[in-house]
Amino acid sequence: MAQSFDLIVLGAGPAGYTAAIRAAQLGMSVLCVDGFLGKDGKPSLGGACLNVGCIPSKALLESSEHFARCRRELASHGIATGEVRIDVAAMLARKDKVVRGLAAGVAGLFAKNKVVSVTGTGRLLPGMQVEVTPPAGGPAEAFTAEHILIATGSLPRDIAAVPMDGKIVVDSTGALDFASVPERLGVIGAGVIGLELGSVWHRLGSRVVLLEAMDTFLPGADEQIAAAAMKEMARQGLDIRLGARVLSAKTGQDSVAVTYEDGSGQHQAEFSKLVVAVGRKPNTWALNANLTGLLLDERGYVHVDEFCRTNLPNIYAVGDVVRGPMLAHKASEEGVMVVERIAGHETRVNYDTIPWVIYTSPEIAWVGRSERQLRAAARDYKTGVFPLSASGRARAMGATVGMTKILADKRSDRILGVHIMAPLASEVIAEAVLAMEFGASTEDLQRTIHAHPSFAETTHEAALAADGRPLNFHE
Ligand code: NAD
Repeated sequence: MAQSFDLIVLGAGPAGYTAAIRAAQLGMSVLCVDGFLGKDGKPSLGGACLNVGCIPSKALLESSEHFARCRRELASHGIATGEVRIDVAAMLARKDKVVRGLAAGVAGLFAKNKVVSVTGTGRLLPGMQVEVTPPAGGPAEAFTAEHILIATGSLPRDIAAVPMDGKIVVDSTGALDFASVPERLGVIGAGVIGLELGSVWHRLGSRVVLLEAMDTFLPGADEQIAAAAMKEMARQGLDIRLGARVLSAKTGQDSVAVTYEDGSGQHQAEFSKLVVAVGRKPNTWALNANLTGLLLDERGYVHVDEFCRTNLPNIYAVGDVVRGPMLAHKASEEGVMVVERIAGHETRVNYDTIPWVIYTSPEIAWVGRSERQLRAAARDYKTGVFPLSASGRARAMGATVGMTKILADKRSDRILGVHIMAPLASEVIAEAVLAMEFGASTEDLQRTIHAHPSFAETTHEAALAADGRPLNFHE
């Protein structure tokens, strides 16, 4: 008879592994199925985020920032270095080690929490069954459960006109493993991945061109911040071409010729490597939707309600495979919500306070509404902006490009959105998220003591500026 569990989790990314651990804490017997194998051919838990996304890209970001700083900034601090060289193999090995360590950490957490982990490709079957095929093939094993959580994540999207060969034309995973610094790097898509990976290789010395189909740069971000970011990235040397629709790509021996069209006509560009970063699609092939009756929405995501319940009883779906932003922290909160609700708690996810971060240099982070959204909703709002050039910490660091901006309801003073472009914006935004989670007003932030000198102070000053009384800045 098939082994039975209280919960089977399909996928061990941030959504799945977090849910599995929380479910085990709540006393459930849990099986987590994941088929990802690391470069060494061994199981590597953590999903796309840990193996080929957030974590390796941040490891490379760190390495590339050290390199860029050594080359461009140390002299201004009075530090002489001589020639600074780069060992790409060592950089990639460090990144892989970071990934291996964290993946082993997830395996350790599973063991400590008594989550049963099985490696293989899971497939949903009717009758609350999951069939797992081992990576090397061989007989599949079936398991049953009271509850099933689908956390199968997402895969890079491709474009038909640009076939990927995994060598010269690659997706975001391939762009984490270039054996040397490409001389000319093309990136299709100036979204989050395009900007992050484009910035990494640019800092390491590539000439980078980003071809973006839309006319608007970073439409999800606040427009003032997006404009400032566009200007800063151009100043750094990133060549971002908006309104550029790629028509075809022809891969040669060691380069690729791309034809694209913009407002001024057709153009050709040649690159030594090309990264396709045009978004990600939900990974639903293992869900047997036809056979199981699982409902997908018109865009191919698993259809769920606000509590991540699918159309099938006791089957839930969370993370990138369902509606909403493809963000690891959104995914893990949904996973926790589902298992806590199974255990009888009344957990909800506050979708209004999900922070966004783009790990460019400087970082861009936001939470809540942008001015564009507030205007569209005809909200009466006030704005407080504090430029980094007026921050003592930013000046001492030599990082004065950027700002912190607060949007608040004009009558109630309640904070509606916070937008930051600054070093460590990913950290500074946490205060804004907490403030919004607690329904804070700008007055609450104005009356909160912030350490001096710090980037966090810029939030304090922006809150003061929302009432026209910043203390360290005058327009
Ligand atoms: P994205 O949606 O952020 O950006 C894709 C970009 O490609 C868009 O600007 C789109 O207009 C453009 N595009 C689409 N088709 C094109 C074409 N044919 N030619 C030129 N441009 C085209 O997607 P992404 O950057 O691939 O990231 C995928 C997902 O992963 C996103 O949902 C993102 O939020 C998530 N992610 C998040 C982070 C983070 O939180 N820091 C990091 C990486 C990825």
